[in-house]
Amino acid sequence: MTSFSAASLLALCAAMLVMWMGLSLPSWRGHVPSQGFHAWIRGAVLMAVGVGLMSRRGVLPDVVTIVVSNGCLLSGVWCFQVGMGLFYRVAAPPRWLGILFAAAFVALAWLWWCDPSPGAVDGARWRVAAMTFALLVSVPAMALRLMRGVPRPWGFGLRCTLSGLALGALSHLVRAVAVLSSPTADPVLGSWFGGALALALIVQVQLFMVGLVLTLEARAQAALRVANERLSVDASTDVLTGLPNRRAFESVAAVERTRARRHGGALAVVLVDIDHFKRVNDRWGHPTGDAVLRELGRLCGLGLRGHDLLARWGGEELALLLPHCGALEAERVAGRMLARVRNTPLEALDGEQLTLSAGVAAVRADDVDVGAALARADAALYRAKNAGRDRVEGEDPSADVLAPADPSDARWVPTDEVGTPA
Ligand code: GH3
Ligand code: MG
Ligand code: MG
Repeated sequence: MTSFSAASLLALCAAMLVMWMGLSLPSWRGHVPSQGFHAWIRGAVLMAVGVGLMSRRGVLPDVVTIVVSNGCLLSGVWCFQVGMGLFYRVAAPPRWLGILFAAAFVALAWLWWCDPSPGAVDGARWRVAAMTFALLVSVPAMALRLMRGVPRPWGFGLRCTLSGLALGALSHLVRAVAVLSSPTADPVLGSWFGGALALALIVQVQLFMVGLVLTLEARAQAALRVANERLSVDASTDVLTGLPNRRAFESVAAVERTRARRHGGALAVVLVDIDHFKRVNDRWGHPTGDAVLRELGRLCGLGLRGHDLLARWGGEELALLLPHCGALEAERVAGRMLARVRNTPLEALDGEQLTLSAGVAAVRADDVDVGAALARADAALYRAKNAGRDRVEGEDPSADVLAPADPSDARWVPTDEVGTPA
């Protein structure tokens, strides 16, 4: 049976670091360099080189496998600390940690220079102790920065990263205790214990990198969700007035009509048109006309109930959907709206006033759709214009309430919540 040495596991770890960075490259698209990408790449390369060199102990010169490799490892870990701070948008690694890493490297190089033989027990023990101490301290420092800096709830990616850090702290602690209590030079390399620690390092790397990629993906998903929401708001909003547009009106009206037919109840529509608006454009210019449209849109929206819907129907016309409202009540609502506009000096026109005309219609039980009621409202609006403007015209008040739901009505099949015939 083949057994894995610590050296081969370290080499595997180095290869995995590079592989993960390569795999995660597409996920970084659009995030470079804002999320510490370059620091991550530098960290991965330096750590891969460090552990790779370490795994060649006995093959390459000791100065390379001891001094250079540990230097690469320390600077790789430092780059990860920097990258992780940028990536999770938490504080940068503290200055004292940089000084500690530098001191650990100087101590290690000095110990090796004084006693270059890797077999010299004391020198080797203190070298390993210096490295282990620096790494051991850096892990909780990073974990604390993440735990304090990242708002909850934490995503699965960050939990993976924190688990990797916890495993890192544990393996450094075990190694520190082993080194300080062992009579041999380095109880890690060349023993099963070293293999176990190298394995722990591999698991750590997987947790870090899985955490990184999952967080990147989660961010991409969140950005997509926000973009979709913005798109759907844009598609249903009139850019000039900020009111819902005709498409939004029609889709809400269809839902309200279904609700009214199912449960029985009233539904009314009002079409509103600004009187002599062309004169405003002619006299004050188009941009002022736009400002007037915005101001009137805001004025007309005042005093409506939460479930009423005011939309820009097109041009200088507005449409109002009034659920639970018969024709008479809708005429009163429209009358209040007209009075408010009539009595409000408009800022955009330096205090001049405008008037509106409105046509009201109730949705009837036998209407094919809300469009039929809108056609009657349009006819009523036409009558209001012809009768001298600045007024509300309605239709026959006796037809203002939708008949209660009647399953025997052949044109209407009751549906359950998801729209399939009940
Ligand atoms: P009436 O009282 O008969 O409704 O007269 P009116 O002048 O309001 O009616 P008409 O339909 O002749 O003119 C409507 C004007 O509204 C013409 C058009 O240029 C203007 N208009 C439509 N949409 C906009 C817009 O988005 N911005 C501006 N500034 N003007 C618009
Ligand atoms: Mg018009
Ligand atoms: Mg008009």
